[in-house]
Amino acid sequence: MSIHTEVVIVGAGPCGLFQVFELGLLGIKAHLLDSLAIPGGQCAELYPEKPIYDIPALPVCGAQELVDRLLEQIKPFGAGMHLGQEVTEVVKRSDGRFDVRTAGGLHFDAGAIVIAGGVGSFQPRRLGVDGAEGFEGKQIFYRVKSAAEFHGKQLVIFGGGDSALDWTLAFADKVKSLALVHRRAEFRAAPASVAKMQELVAAGRMRFIEGTAQSLMLDGMHVSGVRVKDAAGVMHELPADNLLAFFGLAPKLGPIAEWGLELEKKALKVDTEKFQTSVPGIFAVGDINTYPGKKKLILSGFHEAALAAFGIQAYLYPQKRQFLQYTTTSPVMHQRLGVGESG
Ligand SMILES: Cc1cc2nc3c(=O)[nH]c(=O)nc-3n(C[C@H](O)[C@H](O)[C@H](O)COP(=O)(O)OP(=O)(O)OC[C@H]3O[C@@H](n4cnc5c(N)ncnc54)[C@H](O)[C@@H]3O)c2cc1C
Repeated sequence: MSIHTEVVIVGAGPCGLFQVFELGLLGIKAHLLDSLAIPGGQCAELYPEKPIYDIPALPVCGAQELVDRLLEQIKPFGAGMHLGQEVTEVVKRSDGRFDVRTAGGLHFDAGAIVIAGGVGSFQPRRLGVDGAEGFEGKQIFYRVKSAAEFHGKQLVIFGGGDSALDWTLAFADKVKSLALVHRRAEFRAAPASVAKMQELVAAGRMRFIEGTAQSLMLDGMHVSGVRVKDAAGVMHELPADNLLAFFGLAPKLGPIAEWGLELEKKALKVDTEKFQTSVPGIFAVGDINTYPGKKKLILSGFHEAALAAFGIQAYLYPQKRQFLQYTTTSPVMHQRLGVGESG
């Protein structure tokens, strides 16, 4: 099935979200796509609990609070939101419209594109041992889709954050053997979870090794375990049917680099009038773009989104006369925002 829309926005970080708003004010509908399972980009993924102090008129605003406020602000425009969908392909057709495809099999027929991809799409940091790629998705995993598939197995978990500790505790009673490996004795997880894990170790129900993975142990075509070097330099051979690594997510420019757009230092070159890339009809806002004087700030991305919306309107509807309206006084904007009084 194909979704026909005026605009596809790649990336639901703060700038992609605000792009929905600026387009909505001009009466233009959009669909938002993000490879993450949650909206908010870096704010939601990297620092949801941290305060931001440089959002105009908000002396302090939590990063997740900012995302929640943006989601509230764009509600009237009913944008389609497609999460867990990495955009893999953007192709301009001869009629000037775009075919957009995602890794999850969605297809969009869009009039214009805004790339608000930030520092790229977040990918799990991988287990850095030789040959790991060949076993990813088979015996080596970076997330748990179905916990049941690990039940009764010999399991080694890597990492020291909440995901690693939460899954360690969740699997403690359900697997044949369990080991947690973390490169340091300090954890970035809830202290209560760390304490519970230490109790399990003391009770002999699992192992903890302060160390790092060195190599895979192989049995024919299968992984039979992993060699781990501890802090004292001693090598341990841990039998394993499955390895789970929770090293967090790292951004990767990923597919955006393959869409034929002019790049400079891993960022998309844009003009500063419309924030259009080297391909007419494809715009870029937020951390993903570059131009003389660019500053990677949320504030800058918001400004870019406002100007890109006018650029997109001109691209989609070249005959339409453009004029600036104030949200304070414009009856048509009030109607689009769904607010009562237009006086
Ligand atoms: C710790 C920290 C503190 C910060 N503090 C501040 C601050 O105080 N003030 C400030 O102004 N800025 C701050 N920043 C920077 C700010 O977070 C960024 O400028 C902002 O997040 C950029 O927003 P964005 O929407 O452009 O991109 P992002 O927030 O990076 O979002 C981009 C989204 O696009 C998605 N994406 C990328 N490629 C694809 C694809 N191919 N398919 C689908 N989805 C894709 C990604 O998954 C991501 O969710 C801080 C950053 C960090 C890390």
